[in-house]
Amino acid sequence: MISRATLPAGRQDPITGLPNRRAFTAAYQPLPGAQLVMLTLADPKHFDRLLGAIGHEHAETFIRDAATRLRAVLAGSVEIYHISPLNYAFVMPFGAPPDMLQTLLDAFNQPLTCGVIPISADIALGVADCHDADAASVLRAGLCAARDCRDSGRGWARYNRKTDSAHQRSFMLLSDLCAAIRADDQLHLHFQPKYDLGTGETSSAEALLRWRHPVFGNISPAEFVPLAETTAQIHQLTEWVLRHAIAQAGAWAAKGLRLNTAINVSPRNLTRRGFSTQVGKLLSCYGVDPSRIELEFTEGVLVSNDPVVLDELRALRATGMRIALDDFGTGFANFSYITHLPADIIKIDKSFIQRICSDPRSATVVRALIELAHKLDYSVVAEGIESKRAYVMLREWRCNEGQGYFMSPPVDPAAMAARISQRETETVP
Ligand code: C2E
Ligand code: MG
Ligand code: MG
Repeated sequence: MISRATLPAGRQDPITGLPNRRAFTAAYQPLPGAQLVMLTLADPKHFDRLLGAIGHEHAETFIRDAATRLRAVLAGSVEIYHISPLNYAFVMPFGAPPDMLQTLLDAFNQPLTCGVIPISADIALGVADCHDADAASVLRAGLCAARDCRDSGRGWARYNRKTDSAHQRSFMLLSDLCAAIRADDQLHLHFQPKYDLGTGETSSAEALLRWRHPVFGNISPAEFVPLAETTAQIHQLTEWVLRHAIAQAGAWAAKGLRLNTAINVSPRNLTRRGFSTQVGKLLSCYGVDPSRIELEFTEGVLVSNDPVVLDELRALRATGMRIALDDFGTGFANFSYITHLPADIIKIDKSFIQRICSDPRSATVVRALIELAHKLDYSVVAEGIESKRAYVMLREWRCNEGQGYFMSPPVDPAAMAARISQRETETVP
């Protein structure tokens, strides 16, 4: 342990003996031209796994060895602070020169030791200005820069206000989502019709989630659903969507409207055993026939080959619900798994469909995909049809269903019901 006998109580890290975050806060003074360097030793997720593998005692050796190496490189030129288990910070009075940062990277290229096991440090370096920031802000900026460095895969990164605002917005959205799910007046569903390309009739309606945030206004699901997917909140969010979409399906059925309802579900929802039972209960609660429901998953659902996921998919299909593979072609699709997908419908991603009129090669791919899917007994949906020409081409290629702004954008439930009621007059040419 590094001896720091002079440090007041509570200002020393117990593992390395280095001054800690409190000591940094007490000593810190904003300084024009000075820069903070934040060194993050490892990706916290990977470190957790490492901890599970080698135990706390060896992990402490790893952290202590990192401190010793850092001291050796900096050779007493600056005070090093151990901010949190994986983070070290120091201030360069005249800015952090790139060659010093490179020296640090080179030094940590050699593995550290954990007892007798050599373990590679996967450091990330963040650099932040100290001229007009208080201690807490400069540390936060340093951490944010180190995270940008890790995300970009580059050696080091300077603090960037833009990415910081994006991170802060993501954090705020995630914090507010829980309240939005409970509030029940911020989230609502729009529905986008899918059309039978053979008859031109509306065949189903896809529920698409909308969030009217009290401060930020309308937030796209493309922004907040992936955030929710990084946390357990995706389970409550999907529960909200299922309940409201199935209730709506029940209301339409009660009015005598013949219409399937498609619901987007995150692959993560299937990793919890009992998901199919949860859906089944909601269907009985609202008196909805399972054959009226399509569940849309993205290809990510199959990547893990998780037996729970496969069991849940089978259980859902066994009740009569249909499974659609959404955004087909954008993810991990390959020919080995297309032969045994536990799905009924393949939804070709709009990025392919949008190019079929302008790019003959995309047209060839889509046409071949439709043929292949049919031979393997899947029904095919094209999403993102934006022109009559694309619509006609897909109909000629015998694509089963189509969806897109050319026919209709997502609309609120009342507008959707109105469309179905006039189904005879509104068929697409
Ligand atoms: P998705 O399920 O593939 O839905 C299609 C998206 O494409 C929707 O965007 C729709 O508004 C948009 N779209 C439809 N036709 C066209 C077109 O002709 N051109 C173009 N450019 N876009 C078209 P939206 O509503 O913003 O949803 C984005 C994604 O967010 C969805 O993609 C889905 O992955 C996710 N999402 C939406 N609602 C939910 C939900 O309730 N649960 C989950 N897990 N994900 C959802
Ligand atoms: Mg979808
Ligand atoms: Mg899609």
